[in-house]
Amino acid sequence: MGVEAYRKTAKDLIDWICDYYARVESLPVRSEAEPGYLPPMLPTEAPDAPESADAVLSDIQSKIMPGLTHWQSPNFFAYFPANSSFPAMLGDMLSGALSVMGFLWSGSPAATELETVVLDWLAKLLNLPACFLAFGPDMKLGKGGGIIQGTASETVLVALLAAQARAMASRPAEDRQYLVCYSSDQAHSSIKKACMVAGTPHCRLIPARPELDYALDPDDLTAAIDADLAAGLIPFYLVGTIGTTSSCAVDPIAKLGAIARRHDMWFHIDAAFAGVTAMLPEMQHYFQGLELADSFNTNAHKWLLTNFDCSCMWVQDADPLKAALSLTPAFLRAKGNAYDYKDWQIPLGRRFRSLKLFFMLRMYGKQKLQEYLRHHIALGDLVADLVRHDSRFEIVTPPRFALTCFCLKAQTGKETAALVDAVNRSGKAFMITTELSGRCVARFAIGGAQTQERHIRAAWQLISQLADKVLAETE
Ligand code: PLP
Repeated sequence: MGVEAYRKTAKDLIDWICDYYARVESLPVRSEAEPGYLPPMLPTEAPDAPESADAVLSDIQSKIMPGLTHWQSPNFFAYFPANSSFPAMLGDMLSGALSVMGFLWSGSPAATELETVVLDWLAKLLNLPACFLAFGPDMKLGKGGGIIQGTASETVLVALLAAQARAMASRPAEDRQYLVCYSSDQAHSSIKKACMVAGTPHCRLIPARPELDYALDPDDLTAAIDADLAAGLIPFYLVGTIGTTSSCAVDPIAKLGAIARRHDMWFHIDAAFAGVTAMLPEMQHYFQGLELADSFNTNAHKWLLTNFDCSCMWVQDADPLKAALSLTPAFLRAKGNAYDYKDWQIPLGRRFRSLKLFFMLRMYGKQKLQEYLRHHIALGDLVADLVRHDSRFEIVTPPRFALTCFCLKAQTGKETAALVDAVNRSGKAFMITTELSGRCVARFAIGGAQTQERHIRAAWQLISQLADKVLAETE
């Protein structure tokens, strides 16, 4: 493809994208494609001769679009949002076009340095303690700072590896078999997966307390640690969550942090979804004690208008990360820099992901971002009000951030599952269920960049009508 053909086709594609965003609201939110729908529609091999961009785009329209679930629909209320924005898309487009590799500072100095700067901006926006900043007041690099990882799951794993390096630095290698990791059973499954990947022998998922709205009770943690110590084991890694996936429960960070310090454990905070609300003064109570954490993570690619992938991680001290992950073969020996990000992550290659944050943060600014989060939180409160005013439903956990968990009252759970299924089959909205204390619960998560009050009211009307039907059928 020549440059002029690219110029024209790329402009056409931007038109297509703008039209898509204009009509995404009218498309069925969840794809109804059956598994295996696509392979029979496509050739079994790549073409021998070049095809036109028009031919490719035509297949996108006819074959790929029917297999899409529209995560950018204002009627998407499933999982957590993975929202995007035009400014972030501009940054990502530029990153794709520049295609530089930022694993070594010398590979592309701006790619490394912009990431360091932008993560300091974001840390300050989120009111993170100064110990997580890369630059001191004298603009000299300190011991810690931020990095963009691909996902929160990678972050949990990378933090575990750092924790292990720190714990094992002063112990004989055979002590590795005694290492114990802790979190609540409401924490994300990536913790167990990180233990599987790293070969961590003991992973304690301590039952969260329903009476504490599914938070981890510090006394339960202390009891588990004491029992492990008595058995000769070594507590080394604790993950606290601000905003669990099922119900947005918040662990008592300051108390967990004090326990972690007492036992010299690495304390990681997973705030993948809710962490961005740290920029709101009224949410500060959830974030007390962050200075006791060794690492903190929030995904800009969930609720902060930055398209996937952009999982922001900060550490107070990067040395244990480097001890775990630094390896320099001969071909990578270059003029080094304290911030060679290859030493902070598992892969070698890395995209210029800070560009999308750079565009997004500059083109929104703090005030608009705060307004945007408050708008979703207010819509979440509206959902909770609608549920409370309908006697057929009950709220299961207090609505937090922009998530409301509810179910049909005094039913077996099958009815709530049937209701959510009916909502999803309608194509007009998309939600998922979870399980809390063995009960099937509907999750209504808000965070779509285009979601307005009218979408919430329409979704509730749909839920309400379908509830009548489901209850009549199960009587
Ligand atoms: N942690 C929490 C609290 C989450 O809600 C999620 C995903 O929803 C994750 C971790 C995993 O996120 P990722 O897909 O970035 O690995």
